[in-house]
Amino acid sequence: MAVTQKLVCRVEQLVNHGDRVYTVALRPERAAPRFRAGQFLHLALDAYDPSGFWPESRVFSIASPPSQRDLLRISYSVRGRVTARMEAELVEGRELWVKMPYGDFFVDNRADVVLFAGGTGITAFTAFIESLTPDVQQSVVLAYGARTRPLLIYRDVVDRCAKSVSSIDVSYFVEQEDVPGPGGTSGSAGPRLGRVSVDAMWPQLRRPEAARYYISGPPAMLQTISRDLRSRGIPGERIHIDAWE
Ligand SMILES: Cc1cc2nc3c(=O)[nH]c(=O)nc-3n(C[C@H](O)[C@H](O)[C@H](O)COP(=O)(O)OP(=O)(O)OC[C@H]3O[C@@H](n4cnc5c(N)ncnc54)[C@H](O)[C@@H]3O)c2cc1C
Repeated sequence: MAVTQKLVCRVEQLVNHGDRVYTVALRPERAAPRFRAGQFLHLALDAYDPSGFWPESRVFSIASPPSQRDLLRISYSVRGRVTARMEAELVEGRELWVKMPYGDFFVDNRADVVLFAGGTGITAFTAFIESLTPDVQQSVVLAYGARTRPLLIYRDVVDRCAKSVSSIDVSYFVEQEDVPGPGGTSGSAGPRLGRVSVDAMWPQLRRPEAARYYISGPPAMLQTISRDLRSRGIPGERIHIDAWE
């Protein structure tokens, strides 16, 4: 298990996706400690004094792959106090503090898996998806939903991976209709209208009783998906939730 470390990071790049959703690329002062796909970091806006306590922080999934320890990427949506401060204060070049790695939300890399991602919840899966190689044996079904098409912020990453790994099967969902666009560049279909749901995905699961299920997203989505999986007979030990609140 990696030992956690505290690091100063500089904001290298800031992307505003609209609707108060942002992606931040962080350049650590030295190579970040080793971490695993699915882990998260604590981010503090105020300076950390090693002789005192760790400042107020919030946790964010590390969206970038573990092979990339010199540039970390997170995505966040503004919810409350700290994320509102992040929106107001983060600019390229600003320094902040990070401690990492934490968490054990690891996707099984031997079983067939079904991943349900809502909004920025996709960041719990991006490092796993990026780590898949073309010869991977497991089937990976991803249901990725967002409010609008532009908020499918990791669609490019997912499409790129799905293009090179044939066992990835991606379905996109958007809650609001917008101007129809082309389908996914990987051969994946364009987004379906509606929320990510078990009902929508069930017909395309080949052996649902043998798969492991992973859910990451807003609390209401976690509850609904988990309840619907159970009502389809999936036992609790096959359902893994990345609880954000
Ligand atoms: C393992 C883990 C991974 C996470 N990864 C991510 C990630 O990758 N990206 C991400 O965006 N978040 C992530 N989160 C959530 C994140 O850590 C924060 O909890 C979240 O951003 C809220 O922090 P905040 O300071 O903005 O809100 P707080 O001020 O702490 O408020 C907490 C919650 O209260 C509610 N709330 C606050 N103010 C109001 C208000 N005025 N009206 C109504 N409700 C309100 C909101 O629902 C808010 O989420 C993760 C959490 C966990 C536990």
